[in-house]
Amino acid sequence: MTEQHLQRSDKFVIGRKDLQQLLDVLHEKGYRVVGPTVRDGAIVYDDLSSVTQLPVGWTDEQDGGTYRLKKRNDQALFGYAVGQHSWKKFLSPSVVCLWRAKRDGSGFQIIAGSDEQPKFAFVGVRSCDLHAIAIQDNVFIHGQYVEPTYKSRRENVLIVAVNCGQAGGTCFCASMDTGPKATIGFDLALTEVMENNRHYFLVEIGTDLGAQILREVPHEGANEKEKATAERIVAETAKHMGRTMDTTDIKDLLYRNYEHPRWDDVAERCLTCANCTMVCPTCFCLTVEDVTDLTGEHAERWSKWDSCFTMDFSYIHAGSVRASPRARYRQWMMHKLATWIDQFGTSGCVGCGRCITWCPVAIDITEEVRAIRESERTSPGAISPQEVNHENS
Ligand code: SF4
Ligand code: SF4
Repeated sequence: MTEQHLQRSDKFVIGRKDLQQLLDVLHEKGYRVVGPTVRDGAIVYDDLSSVTQLPVGWTDEQDGGTYRLKKRNDQALFGYAVGQHSWKKFLSPSVVCLWRAKRDGSGFQIIAGSDEQPKFAFVGVRSCDLHAIAIQDNVFIHGQYVEPTYKSRRENVLIVAVNCGQAGGTCFCASMDTGPKATIGFDLALTEVMENNRHYFLVEIGTDLGAQILREVPHEGANEKEKATAERIVAETAKHMGRTMDTTDIKDLLYRNYEHPRWDDVAERCLTCANCTMVCPTCFCLTVEDVTDLTGEHAERWSKWDSCFTMDFSYIHAGSVRASPRARYRQWMMHKLATWIDQFGTSGCVGCGRCITWCPVAIDITEEVRAIRESERTSPGAISPQEVNHENS
């Protein structure tokens, strides 16, 4: 195959039978390949060595507080939406040892650890998650302070995205302008096509590295019909989102309604379990814990995922700043959809729907926004920012 075949503006086709070669090439190049697989009744992200480990012939049914796997009537490899895992599990692991030390006379000595990070190839990244990764890049790499573990892991990641061929019951990426077609942040992007007894992947190249990988996998140039079919699949997905969110003026809408009674309503239902923050691909709150062994000879410092839904998260000497469920839910949703925009220049929500699916009481961020918006329509005269009572409980 000549270089001519691999112009970024061109599109290509890989047959289903040749997809294994893509995984093999990634392994040969030293990548730890991770992607979707079925485990414990859900589609999670884990190590992949074979395409047979992908969720072949499975789909998911999702709704508020509901997730079920179901058999498809075909052998699609990517025929489902996102599950409870996101890629932050690899880029910003839930538990990281920052340093270890041992007693040395009256002082202590730091025990050198390895700075070596795995070289990941993420396979099957959906568009919403490409945007989520970009948001976390913004926070951890491009902000005032750089998070070194994230940065060193992120620098080595190769991404094989997959355009969504069906929307999940809680997806709303089309509303957030983050999907379902991959447009940023991938090395290669695949669209799975199954029709007329053919099973193939239309491939787009996002980077030179992606082109290098594709060069080693059997492929052909895509014809106009194949390109149009892939476009149609993604366009249909966009039309069938399980949820929608009207984002018009959303930051000011929420700022205007800081004391809206809906916060009391949602507090009646919220268990402050923190599930929504654990599954959210953009939530990044951490805490740091120091531990010692019983002899007092060794000490360690660990960073762990934390959540704005815990009391400890806002604890400052005499108590928690956000003591009530109302204050904590409001903080989370306001941050996602309003203060994140002031802080980082984008929304903190990519419309993946995970927080809706994995909320045990089916609290739905799209519904909460809708309720506040509707109340302004039906009873104008919301409290202005100047009138806000800043008491958090
Ligand atoms: S909104 Fe749902 S998932 Fe989030 S803390 Fe409340 S109950 Fe848990
Ligand atoms: S807030 Fe919910 S829908 Fe938005 S990115 Fe986080 S988990 Fe996904």
